[in-house]
Amino acid sequence: MKSAIAIAAHPDDIELMMAGTLLLLKKAGYETHYMNLASGNLGSTQHSPGEIKRIRLEEAKTSAQILGSNFHPPVCDDLEIFYDLQKLKQVAAVIREVKPTIVLTHSPEDYMEDHVNTARLAATAAFGRGMPNFLTDPARTPDNYDCTIYHSLPHTLTDNLRRRIIPGSFVNTTSVHEKKLEALKAHESQQNWLDISQKMNSYLQAMEDIALKIGEMSKTFTYAEGWRRHQHVGFCAEDADPLKDLGENYVINEDYELKL
Ligand SMILES: [Zn+2]
Repeated sequence: MKSAIAIAAHPDDIELMMAGTLLLLKKAGYETHYMNLASGNLGSTQHSPGEIKRIRLEEAKTSAQILGSNFHPPVCDDLEIFYDLQKLKQVAAVIREVKPTIVLTHSPEDYMEDHVNTARLAATAAFGRGMPNFLTDPARTPDNYDCTIYHSLPHTLTDNLRRRIIPGSFVNTTSVHEKKLEALKAHESQQNWLDISQKMNSYLQAMEDIALKIGEMSKTFTYAEGWRRHQHVGFCAEDADPLKDLGENYVINEDYELKL
């Protein structure tokens, strides 16, 4: 069976930008996997780090269950997702276990470093999937196969210099939008926290607004997620684009690549 993994930084990031695509991949016959690199320990003004970590671990597990995905535990705490060897070894071990042909991860430009470093770690972990001399933690057997990486849009839909990021393709998430919302709702602890810290009136409303905006950008779908394919060298065939398995729910943005 083909498999796909979503690798994000914090509990609720997958639900905001990637969960619709993950749900559709499952419907298309993929085994799906869910991993946040950080524990979510800073996402509270009410609970101690230990408490909120426990709460958010349970919320993330519930969400993964709603999405029908296999859960992989975090490897570090918030603001500590550095691009370092230890984390690379841990993420690479998960990649070797799952053998995903599709990796969904954050945008290489995003509003916080945890997201950016997650995208880098996911890409390099996949790059080393078949290299026997790269040792993972725990040790896992290397394997060479085609693996395509897709970067989601940043939460703001812009880079850090406020320029709009244009996706290379769109996934129609309308049919799974309710389920995506249900998964996001599992992160109950975040309602209050995001109100205070990031002036997001409601994290549920934020997801709704983002999905609608991307839908609008697609000029085709009501709710959508946007993706940019990573460079193929070291990963897959040049024309590999396995999200095409989503059929009519997947459209290429013809404006994205400059016609040579
Ligand atoms: Zn995040």
